[in-house]
Amino acid sequence: MRGIDDLEVSGRVVLLRADLNVPLDGAEITDDGRIRASLPTITKLADRGARVLICAHLGRPRGSSYAERAAGGPSLAPVAARLADLLGSEVTLAGDVAGPAAAAVAAGLADGQVGMLENVRFEPGETSKDDARRAELAARLAALAQLYVGDGFGAMHRKHASVYDLPGLLPHAAGYLVLAEVAMLRRLTQDPARPYVVVLGGAKPSDKLAVIENLLDQADRLIIAGGMSYTFLKARGHEVGQSLLEADMIPQVAAVLAEAAGRGVEIVLPVDLVGATGYAPDAEHQVFPVTGFPADRESLDMGPATRELFASKLADAQTVFWNGPAGVFEFPAFAAGTRAVAEAISRVRGLTVVGGGDSAAAVRALGFADDSFTHISTGGGASLEYLEGRDLPGLVALEDNG
Ligand code: ADP
Ligand code: MG
Repeated sequence: MRGIDDLEVSGRVVLLRADLNVPLDGAEITDDGRIRASLPTITKLADRGARVLICAHLGRPRGSSYAERAAGGPSLAPVAARLADLLGSEVTLAGDVAGPAAAAVAAGLADGQVGMLENVRFEPGETSKDDARRAELAARLAALAQLYVGDGFGAMHRKHASVYDLPGLLPHAAGYLVLAEVAMLRRLTQDPARPYVVVLGGAKPSDKLAVIENLLDQADRLIIAGGMSYTFLKARGHEVGQSLLEADMIPQVAAVLAEAAGRGVEIVLPVDLVGATGYAPDAEHQVFPVTGFPADRESLDMGPATRELFASKLADAQTVFWNGPAGVFEFPAFAAGTRAVAEAISRVRGLTVVGGGDSAAAVRALGFADDSFTHISTGGGASLEYLEGRDLPGLVALEDNG
């Protein structure tokens, strides 16, 4: 894959597809990790005299037309403002994505200046399944620039106009973030030091069963945490009360458990759970063993015996990949499990990779320094699909230099 050092960028408009999809509380950015992760490429392009035109998405705009989506938002305005703060220079936000306002911003950029297009998902063509609709948007975006740089790792698994169709229309290269993310994931898939331990948490097994099946080939031990662990516990015959459950996934989960046993891959499940009276930050709660979880309680975190068990299962690891919080860490009363997993992984001296939007936000919210881990990936779905062994459309498009 060509990198930005291979492009002659001075004086040219470079359309930079970045992943600036940060979590928002209203218009307030609650974690700016993805903006910070994009800085090296932006700064390098600007320093080399490029006219940097950033294209990014934010949230899930709704509606069938551009007008409806743009009216509903979210606008990239708070992101452009935060980026300007971090860069210490102005970032002009266009009033549209690929219309007259975008063309005016592109034309007005001086060498080394940075501009931004509005939320690319205001354009229904961005995420369209219809090749012609995506191509139409890609052509309008291509007309704004002379070069394309793909650095939005978190969106690389999407077959979207600005990720998949646009690179083919302009000379293109990968940004530093994408190159770094791919290098890390490659280390996980090519001969990782053993034991290789994977911790998977988060809300739903349906999101992650495919990667689990693939990891049975690679990992020595799989620790299942968080919301998805209840379906696994249920498949092993435990009652989980009102906890998050994907009942229709039980047969598939049972098959995965059997497959793991056959291959000698150890699967580690919680042994105790924090059972709350409801899904609320101040819900009353108590610890129960998984063998006696009450029917009227909902688990929002794992218990102290599980924290210890998981830590012991991570202590000898030489390679760790972790995706998905181990509890509802957004509620401080239920963050202990996620904190314990993060602590145990931070003590591992081998390669440790944390992937996932919520997981990355969780470790930062809990106060872990970025150097507590070898790498905090900006991509959740993208990292998982890479580990599943699937081709990521955005990477495929960047690799094609024909
Ligand atoms: P990532 O974005 O890192 O890939 P996911 O999106 O899969 O992670 O999952 C994150 C969400 O899972 C968090 O919002 C968290 O609150 C939720 N979660 C974790 N454990 C539980 C649980 N026990 N019950 C309900 N939700 C949970
Ligand atoms: Mg998530």
